[in-house]
Amino acid sequence: MPESVHQIVNERIAILLGLAEKNAKGHPKRSMRYVELARKLAMRYRIRLGKLKRKFCRKCNRFWVPGFNVKVRLVPRKGKVLYECECGSKAYLIYKGAGRQA
Ligand SMILES: [Zn+2]
Repeated sequence: MPESVHQIVNERIAILLGLAEKNAKGHPKRSMRYVELARKLAMRYRIRLGKLKRKFCRKCNRFWVPGFNVKVRLVPRKGKVLYECECGSKAYLIYKGAGRQA
């Protein structure tokens, strides 16, 4: 795959996730659709979402807004963060060296 295509798809994913973030509170269904589209693009072009994975729920596609639709708890012993989504799904993500959002 040419590098330029990869780049364009990456940009589209970033845009879609940005829209998902903006609509997470006001239009949750629309927001979930944006996440779904971003994930489909990533899958089709085999793009690794990396850090973006901790931005949404893998089960219901909700874009996570801490304190709104997801509970975030640190599990220092494991060096992980527990994300408890509104849909009931739980995800453990590593936070050590993960950047600004822990
Ligand atoms: Zn969920």
